[in-house]
Amino acid sequence: MRPIVIAANWKMNTTPADAGELARTIASRTRQAGVTRVICPPYVSLAAVRDALAGEEVGVGAQNVHHELAGAYTGEVSVPMLAGLATWVILGHSERRAYFAETDALIGKKLDRAVAGGLRPILCVGEVLAEREAGREAQVVDAQLRGALEGRDPATLAAAGLVIAYEPVWAIGTGKNARGADAQAMADAVRASLRALGWGSHADATPVLYGGSVTSANIEEFLAEPGVDGALIGGASLKPDEMAGIAARAGITARARGLAS
Ligand code: PEP
Repeated sequence: MRPIVIAANWKMNTTPADAGELARTIASRTRQAGVTRVICPPYVSLAAVRDALAGEEVGVGAQNVHHELAGAYTGEVSVPMLAGLATWVILGHSERRAYFAETDALIGKKLDRAVAGGLRPILCVGEVLAEREAGREAQVVDAQLRGALEGRDPATLAAAGLVIAYEPVWAIGTGKNARGADAQAMADAVRASLRALGWGSHADATPVLYGGSVTSANIEEFLAEPGVDGALIGGASLKPDEMAGIAARAGITARARGLAS
């Protein structure tokens, strides 16, 4: 049974002074049986969020990590540095790909490091508008998955709890969201790519999230799709009311899928 995951990507927002209070408020308003919650603040707010969430069942995640363990990489953060601060990590976000030139090969190396260091990865994939308009979205996502996952052991990645987030780039931070049917079609495409990579039964067991302008008003459309297992949320994840609405709908899905005890 795949979990329902609601993951908040705060991007470059909040400070250590206000992140803890925001995390605590969101945590208190999003408790839903059968829903896995994750908050990914900026690195400098990880400790504040971790402390604020003590006693809450909410995962704390980093938004990125370096692929080396240590060395002359000014400004970077490695997996060992996240020990005790984060248990999840977002990898391959489209903003990292676009603004920091992250390639699929690099993302694959980060994935190796994250998994070896006990972090649970959320691997982001998704096409830009021109690729969707050309009908190439499944091809693009297949190439991204192949580039990051090929040659890696599916059982190891599945045991690490790998989550895939399908995030069409044209829908991120734009207020334009995909339709539920698009998300379902791409969740199917993701699992088809995983099967083609030899994932077998691990393909069906891998959670696939939708991300791209998710709000409390449109989350229903995505969670109504049987292949979609939650959401990666950017802008709306800074708003407790939005997160409460999103989590409430996720709770309905968790109950409908027999995940809530
Ligand atoms: C994201 O940051 O992954 C994201 C989907 O952002 P937004 O919800 O703001 O589109």
